[in-house]
Amino acid sequence: MAIREVGPRDGLQVESPLPVEARVEFILELIEAGLTCIEVAAFVSPSRVPSMADASAVLKALPADPEVSYFALVPNLRGAQMAMEAGVGALTVTVSASESYSVANVGRGRDEASGEVDRILALAAGVVPVDVVVSCAFGYAGTDPADLDWVAAQARRWAGTGPCSLTLADTTGEAGPPGIEEAVERFGPDFGLHLHETRRTGLVNAYAALEAGVRRFDTSVAGLGGSPFAHGAAGNLATEDLVHLLDLLGLDTGVRLDRLFEASGRISQLLGRDPTAVVRSGPAAGLRRA
Ligand code: MG
Repeated sequence: MAIREVGPRDGLQVESPLPVEARVEFILELIEAGLTCIEVAAFVSPSRVPSMADASAVLKALPADPEVSYFALVPNLRGAQMAMEAGVGALTVTVSASESYSVANVGRGRDEASGEVDRILALAAGVVPVDVVVSCAFGYAGTDPADLDWVAAQARRWAGTGPCSLTLADTTGEAGPPGIEEAVERFGPDFGLHLHETRRTGLVNAYAALEAGVRRFDTSVAGLGGSPFAHGAAGNLATEDLVHLLDLLGLDTGVRLDRLFEASGRISQLLGRDPTAVVRSGPAAGLRRA
């Protein structure tokens, strides 16, 4: 089971900026909880996303640990160069399957943005792993339906350009179990899923994906996050919701639920939010220690 924690990036990007020290402390707590794959920064314009400023400083302050992979999100070739210079462990590159979301989010159409992915893959080949995250893979509310044909065509071309993995993001919470199953039929189970709780379907979609064999998930502790450019995107699938479910299913994650709950509680408090339901209630009876 591979869980990529995106709270320090996807979660914090929509919040008021936190100092570098607080962001680093947050990441260290997540590592303490046993998370080994963490998206820690984004190399984006600080004027556009102020809370993601000082990405290099965050990376520099983190301990080198062969067990932990630090991901940074990069929107373009320049961001990829900066992230690689800062010594990032892996890149996430996003491209939207929805034309209108792409224009709103990065100011260019999806085909143009997909071409930039090719340039990043060529740059990173043999240096750092790249995960291509396709936003709005299950549609974009009100305007664009899912377009898996487009995703499949791009994925074929990217694979021919440089080594990469694929993550499908339900950015605005459009998917249901049938859409998840359709994606598995189309791509096989070897892709990551980035789910949102916009309509409270994130965890049920994760369960449907697990049943279909998917083993990679993006989650955000305390359910933080969303996109500042997508109406209604708020709320990533909470890491503690997924880990709690996986524990109930007896599937090993390597994550310590008690430490994860503590980290979730602390960041919720720091950001002035209520603790999430599972943190407030504690683990289900079957998971409590004697
Ligand atoms: Mg997200």
